[in-house]
Amino acid sequence: MLFRSLAARGVVAAAAALLALATPVAAQDLDLRAQVAAFVQPTNAARTDVVVAQLRAAGFEPTVETFTGGNRQTGEVEGRNVVVTLGDGPREILLTAHYDAVTLRDGTMSHGVVDNAASVVGVIEAAKVLRGRTLNHRIRIILFDQEELGLIGARKWIEAHGLTNVAAVVNSDVAGYGDTMMYGQNNGPQSAFVTRAVQAVCSERALQCVGFPEYPPSDDRAFSAAGAPVVSLGFQDEVGAHQMWLAFNGGQSNGLAQGFVPQVFRLIHSSEDTMEHVDPATVALAGATYAAVVERLDAQLAGVD
Ligand SMILES: [Zn+2]
Repeated sequence: MLFRSLAARGVVAAAAALLALATPVAAQDLDLRAQVAAFVQPTNAARTDVVVAQLRAAGFEPTVETFTGGNRQTGEVEGRNVVVTLGDGPREILLTAHYDAVTLRDGTMSHGVVDNAASVVGVIEAAKVLRGRTLNHRIRIILFDQEELGLIGARKWIEAHGLTNVAAVVNSDVAGYGDTMMYGQNNGPQSAFVTRAVQAVCSERALQCVGFPEYPPSDDRAFSAAGAPVVSLGFQDEVGAHQMWLAFNGGQSNGLAQGFVPQVFRLIHSSEDTMEHVDPATVALAGATYAAVVERLDAQLAGVD
């Protein structure tokens, strides 16, 4: 991404290539990149196997919860949510991301890496941090299926488990590149304390964050519709995040050129959602930030912050 914008400003590609050679690539970056790339599969069922394998490789014992899903267009399709539980406690904090990808008009699958394999790998990174912590809540990591068919995996999970013991939900959708975290503020008054936790983490970490009064829907909406406190998080480059803010919140006089579509919406749900747009540094940043948000919520809800 950085190189693309430099190129647009007229910096020769050769200089960028030289810089890339001179910059050491951390082993963790290679791993995270390979992990995201592994999700490029011909079917969502194959993506389920990737989630399960990556969780096992990280030392977790995931369970697969099957459900009957699908929508009017697809007919009945069996779905599979993948779940890992950490720690114990009477109440739970959920950390969630969908792993399924959309089927494109030509019948092939989107690579679904920005949307949303990068988030899934980020959430697994967060889970690795959180398992080492002593927390007041049980943490449930849920990788949802069939978000792209209409938040079906999330709805089915809520149907099966209820929300009685759910204290808060943190969802990630679109976290493939950029250093700016976006968060939705349109999940009802019950979610205000979750927003506060997010803002505290942004402040503590001097992380650039952009709050969206209107934010595009993801699995968070299944939870807020059922009354749960929830936030949806994502990452993007700073300019893109602000363009997206304007597109959703700027109204008629948002100042964007006529017909302008923020880059992220040209990528996702298309054949352009490819590894070229995934930056492992963002995946690592997302993982560390999500773990911090969950920890913050845990402390806040226990009345110890
Ligand atoms: Zn998504």
